[in-house]
Amino acid sequence: MTLLEIARMTEEQAREYLEGLRWPDGPVCPHCQSTDVTRMNGEAHRPGCIQCNNSECRQQFTVTVKSVMESSKVSLVKWVLAFHLICSSKKGFSALQLQRELGLGSYRTAWFMMHRIRHALAEGELTEPTMQGAVEADESYFGGKPRHNNKHTDAPAKRGRGTKKTPVVVLVERNGKARTKPVKRVNAKTLHAEVLSTVRKNAVLITDEWPGYLGLGRHFDGGHETVNHSEKEYARFHPESGLPIHSNTAESFFSLMKRGYMGIYHTMGKQHLHRYCAEYDFRWNHRKVSDHERMEAAIRQAPGKRLLYETPQEKDCS
Ligand SMILES: [Zn+2]
Repeated sequence: MTLLEIARMTEEQAREYLEGLRWPDGPVCPHCQSTDVTRMNGEAHRPGCIQCNNSECRQQFTVTVKSVMESSKVSLVKWVLAFHLICSSKKGFSALQLQRELGLGSYRTAWFMMHRIRHALAEGELTEPTMQGAVEADESYFGGKPRHNNKHTDAPAKRGRGTKKTPVVVLVERNGKARTKPVKRVNAKTLHAEVLSTVRKNAVLITDEWPGYLGLGRHFDGGHETVNHSEKEYARFHPESGLPIHSNTAESFFSLMKRGYMGIYHTMGKQHLHRYCAEYDFRWNHRKVSDHERMEAAIRQAPGKRLLYETPQEKDCS
């Protein structure tokens, strides 16, 4: 399905489309999970209203209930369009452009839609480590104006309301998934916790020579290999597996996120940074599928998540 085909949908078709993605086997009550439900047609009911017949529940719902689209006044067609735009733009998509292209009433509406969608894209905490093979770890800084070349000694950069830049750690499997997370500081305690909660024992960990990673090698079968950024290194290989030792994958991830940060978003508010991370993780982790499949994967993640702003403040829109 192309952007044009979505734009041509009626509101009813968009609803059917969203229902099909959420409930491939027919509607399920989001309050009690009952499948004994009745569609409430007619003028007396809001469009898409479904009644739960479970005698202990008896609640009414629509396809947006208990999803990031809940209680939104924006049409469902525009929601599907927004999911498509965010999922198909490599570097990111600005709220201003979303407002213009969808004809949304205000920048604030567009901004909150973007953040609700990012919330849907988030994969959540891991219950056990999942990454294996060659796993690269690295850090970068977001949130303020970039001023320092040495990321590890990055001093607080003042910007606007005196916010500081926030370190973001990425762990990325070569040829696999990426997970980023904003952290308070890049000390050994934080980095060890991030690596050990994400990377499986059978992996080889590859980082630069930052001391915060020291001591992690004993946790991994493949050990810990380091790359020296200050000296030009050529084609170094793991002594046993022959694996090339570099951190190019982590660097590619951050260069994509930096390009979005510098060229599209210009700022990523500290309190919202984890959702920007989710956006870049999601696109990276679904990079091998089509734009359409990526959008559908995103929409399927929308239920079960809510992000409602009761009293949005302009100052939060960054
Ligand atoms: Zn129910």
